[in-house]
Amino acid sequence: MSTPIVAIVGRPNVGKSTLFNKLIGERLSIVDDTPGVTRDRIYGECEWNNRKIRIIDTGGIEPYSDDVILKQMRRQAELAIDTADVTVLVTDVRDGVVATDEEVAQMLQKSGKPVVLCVNKCDQIGEPPAQFYEFYNLGLGEPIQVSSVHGTGTGDLLEEVCKFLPPEDEAELDEDVISVAVIGKPNVGKSSLINYITGENRCIVSDIAGTTRDSIDTIVENEFGKFNFIDTAGMRRKARVYDNIEKYSIIRARMAIDRCDVCVIMIDAEVGYTEQDSKVAGMALEAGKGCIIAVNKWDAIDKDTHTMGDFRKTLDREFAFMSYTPYIFISAKTGQRVNNLFELITTVANNNAMRIRTGMLNDLLNVATTRVQPPTDKGKRLKIYYCTQASTKPPTFVFFCNNKELFHFSYQRYLENRIRESFGLEGTPIRIIVRERG
Ligand code: GDP
Ligand code: GDP
Repeated sequence: MSTPIVAIVGRPNVGKSTLFNKLIGERLSIVDDTPGVTRDRIYGECEWNNRKIRIIDTGGIEPYSDDVILKQMRRQAELAIDTADVTVLVTDVRDGVVATDEEVAQMLQKSGKPVVLCVNKCDQIGEPPAQFYEFYNLGLGEPIQVSSVHGTGTGDLLEEVCKFLPPEDEAELDEDVISVAVIGKPNVGKSSLINYITGENRCIVSDIAGTTRDSIDTIVENEFGKFNFIDTAGMRRKARVYDNIEKYSIIRARMAIDRCDVCVIMIDAEVGYTEQDSKVAGMALEAGKGCIIAVNKWDAIDKDTHTMGDFRKTLDREFAFMSYTPYIFISAKTGQRVNNLFELITTVANNNAMRIRTGMLNDLLNVATTRVQPPTDKGKRLKIYYCTQASTKPPTFVFFCNNKELFHFSYQRYLENRIRESFGLEGTPIRIIVRERG
């Protein structure tokens, strides 16, 4: 369930992004027209021995500037230590071991976290160049000879990475636990919410079997179910310096979203909506995760009869691209509506996992296509033969039709709305796949 995360760190120009691209191939998912989708190639997925692995190229997070390279590398290494299961330190065989390599190696070693040392640009197959042996001095164990450009040695590298990962089934969470990522700007009230919840409920601060990252998740059990609150920046520990750099916080949010079932986007009622909130929402949409917007500190603002309505209007506008998202107005301080938040999380998680019977879908399709005729173009009319749900999390529907070109986005949107009207699906994105059949 929880896909391991591998972070790539190293000096500029040693070949981190080349290695990253080689590892993920063309697998980066890119969905256009979604606000906030990170198009940078810094976060992706690969598979090794049937095991999914998430990879971050920390070097891609911020552009290097000559005067602060060491500082940037420290931030990258810190992020890796905090959030990755294994860190890959990339070095360049042509440069040999340089002072910065030593510095970062020390930092990683001190953390006690698994590190794999990649000596890149070993382009000749066979015996490595003489400089290769210097890398043993970094004290990180056996260096792995890699040529990222040619793609040699990357298998050995992944093999080594996998040695540090717990066996897959051990890392598996209980099936009925709902994983929740609470995401929001610093000071919005994330840790207050966790504190409130842990004060009210039976909970375990978990050290989930075998995970090696520093993040500590909180497992809560109450009348609404079992929940795993994923540690996002600043929840269970003091926020780090890098958390204030937007790109880092976006990357952290992205990692938390990948691990969650439901993403709670927390907005400070006193500050209001910020652009980063819709970026995060866009990531949840892209990842197919459920989403809730929680306006916190509702106790702290002066309210009249219009306040909530006005707030809703702003949110309706800013989150128009995912109008299925529910809002809730809470106070992490007084606990106001925190129970409703739990209920909502459960509802959204169920919707995200909902399965709709094919018969019901096709009844709906018949009614919908009668009410609004499918589009035509140059005398040809779209015919939709059949619809079925292919998968859950998020609910994904396949429509079989005579001609894909005719199945315009607007008609897909129309059908999506009919499905939502009939089955609710509050809080979850849905996906539509169009297939042609002769
Ligand atoms: P980054 O700054 O660490 O992400 O480094 P890049 O991936 O941008 O690579 C820096 C330069 O090294 C580019 O010109 C790459 O083509 C080159 N490079 C990367 N890997 C290899 C390799 O395995 N062999 C050789 N010869 N060049 C490489
Ligand atoms: P985090 O950085 O998102 O974890 O935010 P914190 O939980 O540390 O909260 C930041 C500040 O907001 C603290 O001073 C909290 O006491 C305050 N705060 C958090 N939630 C509420 C709330 O619901 N109402 C009020 N009035 N203050 C809150």
